[in-house]
Amino acid sequence: MANQQETWTVLRILARSKEFLVQKGVENARLESEWMLCAVLGLDRMGLYVNFDKPLTDVELAGYRDMVTRRGRREPLQYILGSQEFMGMEFEVSPAVLIPRHDTEVLVAEAVARAGGEGSLLDIGVGSGCVTVALASALPKATVSGVDSSPQALALAQKNADKLGVAIALYEGSLFGPFTGRRFDLIVSNPPYIPTADLETLQPEVRDYEPLQALDGGADGLDFYRLIVPAAPGHLSHGGWLLFEVGIGQAEAVREMLGRTGFSELFVAKDPNGIDRVVGGRLL
Ligand code: GLN
Repeated sequence: MANQQETWTVLRILARSKEFLVQKGVENARLESEWMLCAVLGLDRMGLYVNFDKPLTDVELAGYRDMVTRRGRREPLQYILGSQEFMGMEFEVSPAVLIPRHDTEVLVAEAVARAGGEGSLLDIGVGSGCVTVALASALPKATVSGVDSSPQALALAQKNADKLGVAIALYEGSLFGPFTGRRFDLIVSNPPYIPTADLETLQPEVRDYEPLQALDGGADGLDFYRLIVPAAPGHLSHGGWLLFEVGIGQAEAVREMLGRTGFSELFVAKDPNGIDRVVGGRLL
């Protein structure tokens, strides 16, 4: 029988797990400890605060310890909790897909602003489906297609679309592979863009857990832009737009690529941190 000292109350376990996660180099250790405990107990944070003295059951304790252990190995919180918010919508995530980033909301906003409310759109590299689904949700009159080479990603993206009640058409394949002879009014892509040599310098959450094929953009990170840009005119209607998310320091190179390929009305848009994040142009 556990005595008072050994009883793990909400408050005690939070203090203990925070201390453990700080040791492991996790930045928001207290907050993340609270979120994981919320998930285990089925409470919101206010619910935790009014239950500080509540002892955890053995099952709750085991579930929580498992989560904290995983986080201590620097597995991303989003894979442990199974979801990430993007454009105000909750997306299920798994290690098969990149975790949606808030920076990518700029890509969606710029695309929506240029789509004119309807037409046909294509998202190259669907991942969790965050961009594809957000476009379809913001543009209910548009037809939104997406392509990805990973069947696991496509299954998850379809699940996310179904849960959020939006219709998208998903295709398995490489880039324009499934779209011979098809043209779109707007094409977006957030392709893998990390230079291969930089991969090992990324934080452990990304380097050790996020899918490499969603990150690795080749020697200078620009491989996918070199594949997509020259092929895009064959898949765009007259006046159609091509928009990319880019990595830090890549905007100028991609902008130039678009210009050389005959795109006009070139633009660059910044993310909330002031970094050039989205590059696009129009085929006239
Ligand atoms: N389009 C998805 C996203 O923005 C996947 C991107 C990727 O895997 N490179 O999250």
